[in-house]
Amino acid sequence: MSIVLSNVNKIYQSGEVNVHALKEASIEIPNKKIVAILGPSGSGKSTLLNVIGGIDRHDSGSVQVDDHQLDKMKDKDLTEYRRHSLGFIFQQYNLIPTLTVEENVEVGRQLSQNPLDMKEILEKVGMWDKKDKFPHQLSGGEQQRVAIARALIKNPRVLLCDEPTGALDEETGKNILKLLQFVNETYGTTVCIITHNNGIGEMAHKVIRMKSGEITEHFYNEAPVDPE
Ligand code: ADP
Ligand code: ADP
Repeated sequence: MSIVLSNVNKIYQSGEVNVHALKEASIEIPNKKIVAILGPSGSGKSTLLNVIGGIDRHDSGSVQVDDHQLDKMKDKDLTEYRRHSLGFIFQQYNLIPTLTVEENVEVGRQLSQNPLDMKEILEKVGMWDKKDKFPHQLSGGEQQRVAIARALIKNPRVLLCDEPTGALDEETGKNILKLLQFVNETYGTTVCIITHNNGIGEMAHKVIRMKSGEITEHFYNEAPVDPE
């Protein structure tokens, strides 16, 4: 799935102040690749991801995700698009505390029209033997694996990840990145990762840099490296 943004603007009204969170943003995110979105806090990274993900609406410009033209899409269709075509991963894992690992992933499975197999996915993320545990019985890295399984079981074309390693120690964070790399290679899922961590840029096929709502730089990595 290729994602194409052309001259996208997003303005938030915050009291008296207008915040121009995206300024004429134009970018292509190629199909089946890993893309890192880098930039300081407040530069518009989450807004970019939220616009692609149909969480936020842009004010002008065009956003095309595969055959989905988001600009004039009705709310109902946007919700369908979000549910069926996309998986979201956040810094906070957002698991449901009263449900087991398997039941949390089942929530994702129920949303999908063509879900993948529960056992396969839990094995792939290394959580099959903990499928009956509850979130509070798991480490942060394990909880993020469950969150990835919940997104992945939907068989999404795109995974949108907002600071997926932000709450994890370095070693655990690297293992989560390796898992995202594995997902990309195994399922051909397009993976967009927002990060403050320049190191993540090195594993990505394409790097996008943002500052003050603008895309200031974008380039392809000649030779993406494994997270070490
Ligand atoms: P990050 O820097 O990791 O993207 P933030 O703490 O800046 O995280 O923002 C987290 C979420 O809060 C974002 O999805 C953003 O849309 C929302 N947000 C950020 N700034 C504001 C604000 N001034 N008012 C309301 N919501 C905001
Ligand atoms: P980043 O993800 O790079 O930290 P964001 O996309 O979260 O940046 O925010 C970009 C700018 O938009 C910031 O100035 C932020 O405060 C502002 N912003 C984000 N979401 C909201 C919101 N819901 N309401 C008002 N301002 C917001």
